[in-house]
Amino acid sequence: MRLLAWADQKGLRNWAGNIEYSTDRVRTYTSLEQVQAYVKTQNRLKVLGTRHCFNNIADSKDVFLSLKPMDNVIAIDAAKRTVTVAAGITYGQLCPYLDAKGFALHNLASLPHISVAGACSTATHGSGQKNGNLATAVSGLEIVTADGRVVNLSREQDGEIFNGAVVGLGAIGVITKVTLNIQPSFMMRQYVYEDLPLSEMKEHFDAIESSGYSVSLFTDWQKQRINELWIKSRVEEGQTFHAVPEFFGAKLATRNLHPIKELSAENCTEQMGVPGPWYERLPHFRMGFTPSAGKELQSEYFVPRQHAVEAILAVERLRDQVGPSLLITEIRTIAADQLWMSPCYEQDCVTIHFTWKPDWTSVSKLLPVIEKELAPFNARPHWGKLFTTSPAELRRIYKKMPDFIELSGRYDPQGKFRNEYLSKNIFTT
Ligand SMILES: Cc1cc2nc3c(=O)[nH]c(=O)nc-3n(C[C@H](O)[C@H](O)[C@H](O)COP(=O)(O)OP(=O)(O)OC[C@H]3O[C@@H](n4cnc5c(N)ncnc54)[C@H](O)[C@@H]3O)c2cc1C
Repeated sequence: MRLLAWADQKGLRNWAGNIEYSTDRVRTYTSLEQVQAYVKTQNRLKVLGTRHCFNNIADSKDVFLSLKPMDNVIAIDAAKRTVTVAAGITYGQLCPYLDAKGFALHNLASLPHISVAGACSTATHGSGQKNGNLATAVSGLEIVTADGRVVNLSREQDGEIFNGAVVGLGAIGVITKVTLNIQPSFMMRQYVYEDLPLSEMKEHFDAIESSGYSVSLFTDWQKQRINELWIKSRVEEGQTFHAVPEFFGAKLATRNLHPIKELSAENCTEQMGVPGPWYERLPHFRMGFTPSAGKELQSEYFVPRQHAVEAILAVERLRDQVGPSLLITEIRTIAADQLWMSPCYEQDCVTIHFTWKPDWTSVSKLLPVIEKELAPFNARPHWGKLFTTSPAELRRIYKKMPDFIELSGRYDPQGKFRNEYLSKNIFTT
């Protein structure tokens, strides 16, 4: 056991710095047996991943368990096309290793800095009409439950229980190993277009979204346009995007761009159609560099795919209110899945994301306004970002929540892994 270096600084905070956790006590262990023994002795604890959530989902008043040193690749099964990793590993560590062995993951978030276990626990996603969120790649979990037992769950053998546990919001137990589906490594190209007229987006949303393997639209909601359109395509025959100088009225960029155009593109993955491995094109931001703007808050809402254009236009109507607090919005698509607490449970989704200036006073007033506009579409907030959606509304829009509560209770009857966030949003009764 040792204290982590970043815990020594006064006040342990999340990546964005907007949350100071309620304790700075962090324990780290290097073996499964140590984790089991420690969990057994504690009344309450939370596992900390890489601290990239913007709300208090990871917070603890008691003690944190960090699996940061447990970050190795345990096995690649080439026949079954799976990789098993210790739960402290980040995508930034895993992906180059996988690629060197000839394999790839199906998708990545905008940044590789996050832990695999923490990302999957909150249904973190990238983009792509046919791509499920990152948790959909999980095919097996090893979990230390509240009594210190080790439970192994797999997609193959545990069906619905597995579907309930994968997006576990930190409530099921300590995930110590994750098995992920892999596929043969692939190369990608990324092109960026500037100034897509909103009217073209409205008329051709499906064609634009299906133009690449993973497509992102960035807008500040001003001037009736999408500021940047990022198209990431695989280089295989039939999948490559053939860049034309003008695409639905948008102009092909002639230099690498940051999603916030004023910022340097140095932090961003290579664009301009330069081919590169999947893990250096799927994220927008490069490992080793600050992702996004750095000083920011984030919120995001998942809307059923069939309401995409309507929902986007509803937010656009709020442009004057939203504009002063916003750095940039990103719009992405995600395929439906079967994971109970995933915002994409049984529905293809479009996500409307907000990177905010770091001013919670203003943002906290805007979120209810946005949520009201998106409520008719049953919008679901990102579990790891800032939202004000009421617990009653969450219960209404997550039909599997009662089953999830029952499942968590089975593995953690005394609420050892619960915290304020979970008590407020999930275990409300
Ligand atoms: C700059 C930036 C860009 C982002 N981009 C995206 C994006 O493109 N798409 C997207 O969907 N999200 C994005 N996010 C949000 C982020 O990916 C998620 O919030 C993710 O959950 C962070 O993972 P983490 O390891 O930092 O988790 P933490 O914040 O450390 O923890 C999150 C939850 O996971 C639990 N947890 C972590 N590890 C374990 C474990 N081993 N066992 C059990 N529970 C565990 C914690 O207890 C907590 O409940 C972004 C965030 C930032 C800061």
